[in-house]
Amino acid sequence: MPREVLRRMGGLGFLGLMYAPEHGGAGADPLTNLVFAEALSQSTFGGFIVTVLVHTDMASPHLHHAGNAAQLAQYMPGIIKGEAITAVAVTEPDAGSDVAGIRTRAERVGGGFLINGSKMFITNGVHADVYFVAAKTSREARGAHGISMFIVDKGTPGFRVGRALKKTGWLSSDTAELIFEDCRIPASNLLGRENEGFYSVVKNFQNERLMCGAMALGHATQAMRLTLEHVKQRQAFGKPLWDKQTIRQRLAMLSAKTEALRSYTYHCAWLMSQERDCVREISGLKALAGELVNEVLYTCQQFHGGMGYIRETAIERLWRDARILAIGGGATEVMLEEVAKRL
Ligand SMILES: Cc1cc2nc3c(=O)[nH]c(=O)nc-3n(C[C@H](O)[C@H](O)[C@H](O)COP(=O)(O)OP(=O)(O)OC[C@H]3O[C@@H](n4cnc5c(N)ncnc54)[C@H](O)[C@@H]3O)c2cc1C
Repeated sequence: MPREVLRRMGGLGFLGLMYAPEHGGAGADPLTNLVFAEALSQSTFGGFIVTVLVHTDMASPHLHHAGNAAQLAQYMPGIIKGEAITAVAVTEPDAGSDVAGIRTRAERVGGGFLINGSKMFITNGVHADVYFVAAKTSREARGAHGISMFIVDKGTPGFRVGRALKKTGWLSSDTAELIFEDCRIPASNLLGRENEGFYSVVKNFQNERLMCGAMALGHATQAMRLTLEHVKQRQAFGKPLWDKQTIRQRLAMLSAKTEALRSYTYHCAWLMSQERDCVREISGLKALAGELVNEVLYTCQQFHGGMGYIRETAIERLWRDARILAIGGGATEVMLEEVAKRL
């Protein structure tokens, strides 16, 4: 992802839509933010979309929600201008869905903290400038208790990128393993209240999952557009593929499902804008969107025939990029448990 594109988006005001005008943001509500995310998600490069949305809606919200005045003044202007790119580091090699199971530790030493551990699958992990890192800060506390969030700047001694990970899709997004070895940070880099980071992570999950819905919606919409164009011009057995009832009926059903997804996504953003409890709705959205986008992409790729399997086509890229939407940011099964708990 060329940095220049992110700086230009920052210059246009796209990277701080929901943030305070005093830091350069637009003070917009979740519905406005979703309009932008849906428009951004019309790109057929999922890696580009996620690079931006992790920065705007998954990583920097940790600072927005929990940062004190000094932290906001120091970091927010650069984040909104696209000069400082952010990443959020929660997942570890042995703890993904089970956030409370993380093992990275931050221990109070002198006037600061010493972080030790590793993080896995971190989007923007290689190229970010500022990282919001979850670590255990209490040896006694069990499960969700005793986790805190920290700001770690790139270049802090003891913090390094272990390796850039090779993925199936999202090829223009960088994903990394991060290593912390006696990484010393000042106490002022604690984000929010000590030992209450888990609740901050879970709170931010809601907007993050709404954005996953927007990405799925964008991919499904583009896949449908590409496929309708293709089947209307591609001839087989003397007629366009569109003339085959089985093809057009399956596309008609997918079109209806995609429209339903759009309405549900906007409904969730409206619930958020009203500050209502919407964990059940958003977890359901994440589960539905992640599965539906894969159903749409499978069928759209199928109707492209052999070309749907060739790397030079957008439909093939979308098919690869869609896969992660049922896994990352809350895998389908985990989301369904969140829904079930509330039924
Ligand atoms: C490309 C990519 C980018 C990512 N970016 C980030 C990032 O920026 N920051 C970050 O912190 N993380 C990031 N992640 C991590 C991502 O959120 C996790 O991979 C995801 O939450 C799943 O966790 P896991 O991989 O540990 O799978 P696991 O938790 O091991 O789950 C494996 C399978 O078991 C199922 N499962 C787990 N628990 C249950 C249960 N209770 N009931 C039923 N089924 C269950 C899951 O649904 C899944 O199908 C990224 C991952 C990828 C691949």
